[in-house]
Amino acid sequence: MKEPLRADALLYELSVEGRKGVSLPKLDVEETPAPQELLREELPLPELDEATVVRHFTLLSQKNFSIDGQFYPLGSCTMKYNPRMNEEAASLKGFRRTHPLLPETMTQGALALLYKLQESLKEITGFESFSLQGAAGAQGELAGALMIRAYHVSRGDSRRNRMLVPDSAHGTNPATCTMAGLIAETIPSDSNGAVDLAALREAVSGEKGKTLAGLMITNPGTLGLFEPNIAGIIKIIHDAGGLVYGDGANMNALLGIVKPGRMGFDVMHLNLHKTFSTPHGGGGPGAGAVGAGELLKDFLPGPLASLSGYPAAETYTFFQPSSSIGRLKSFNGNFGVLVRAYAYIRTLGRQGIRRVSEYAVLNANYLKALVKDAYPAAYGGGKPCMHEFVSSPSFGNGITTMDIAKRLIDYGFHPPTVYFPLIVKDAMMVEPTETESKETLEAFARALNLIAAEAREQPELLKEAPHNTPVGRLDETAAARKPVLRYRPV
Ligand SMILES: *Cc1c(COP(=O)(O)O)cnc(C)c1O
Repeated sequence: MKEPLRADALLYELSVEGRKGVSLPKLDVEETPAPQELLREELPLPELDEATVVRHFTLLSQKNFSIDGQFYPLGSCTMKYNPRMNEEAASLKGFRRTHPLLPETMTQGALALLYKLQESLKEITGFESFSLQGAAGAQGELAGALMIRAYHVSRGDSRRNRMLVPDSAHGTNPATCTMAGLIAETIPSDSNGAVDLAALREAVSGEKGKTLAGLMITNPGTLGLFEPNIAGIIKIIHDAGGLVYGDGANMNALLGIVKPGRMGFDVMHLNLHKTFSTPHGGGGPGAGAVGAGELLKDFLPGPLASLSGYPAAETYTFFQPSSSIGRLKSFNGNFGVLVRAYAYIRTLGRQGIRRVSEYAVLNANYLKALVKDAYPAAYGGGKPCMHEFVSSPSFGNGITTMDIAKRLIDYGFHPPTVYFPLIVKDAMMVEPTETESKETLEAFARALNLIAAEAREQPELLKEAPHNTPVGRLDETAAARKPVLRYRPV
């Protein structure tokens, strides 16, 4: 006897010989047999009824965690709710079916959207100009590093090839510097999780200052703390002739409150797929929009959209900035992501945009307080955090952050980011975002606190977690690098 429909059954295992899913009308032409050379005996087609197929794929689709199904507090990644209205906008026929090779005269609407999104991002960040070319945060970073390099070279200052990167940085920062042909140099953090100013001064002092390309810095940093010395840090770099790149992948604490362009950053990327609500994960698609100030705006990757003849003969066109580093991507970036970001910004408006950050910060601090006994923040000394916080759980009995993460799955929550940032031992990085309700935050805190009690009283329960998933602990690197996507009969 076959087992009843299991969520993790394979389609092949559900097959019943002779079962049919469709009834086709009687043939009114001559029957042609299927090409035998294409049919392989070791690959029989499963024979199933339609309902079984639908249930199989529906259950399969629910196997993954998703922001639509569960709370997803993945620090640094900003997994917020993605309003359905943005999806509607992105799938409007005029956007979805516009061929990128159509002439500008026929794509004024799409161009207007690009232009207005550029303008909105300028207003939100205080930068002079924006490029929407980048397909990911990392690509935005690469653009910024190349722009900084091109700026120095354009001034005949081609010795400048060292980019300073704090040790709390996202891994993409040193990687993109290296890709851009720069030397990434680590700057340590001090005991408060801020940039070690003495080390920074040392790295730009004397002759070293002459080879300084710039600094790549994230603020708030990956510890969820606002860099208190940001103005001083930027001044140190500028005084030494360097430029400052801001990693703005995560703007959830700053929207409507602080303009990084006015803080002294020369160039910065925004992850529209994080802060501006495009579903992401699993590799994209994303959009790493790059904003630049006065010194770097002419180096932006193009094309950019511009407006002329307003209001009488409003016309949108593309242009290439005068010293552009070139294209980052074919055509005009990931257009669908740009539509979603624009819809999101316009839906919220000026006040709504600010409230995103107010609630994101409030939610992070509320959650941080609810779990502070078992999961105290690793840095910040109990002071308020920004949109996320980092803890270093320790129960003194061999229970690891990974054990806690796996046990959370049993409670129905996606684990937070773990083991990042690297400067925190056994880090657990929690970002609840603004779209979660008080009840959800409390339920998550309850689970975390229950797990802390289990960690002390029944540690084996954590060591063996997760208990309710089709597979337990995977080799995560292999799962990401060598996924098994093909049915293999046992
Ligand atoms: C997500 C993230 C990035 C990289 O963005 P991708 O779109 O994944 O390339 C860079 N920096 C920080 C701080 C991030 O959170």
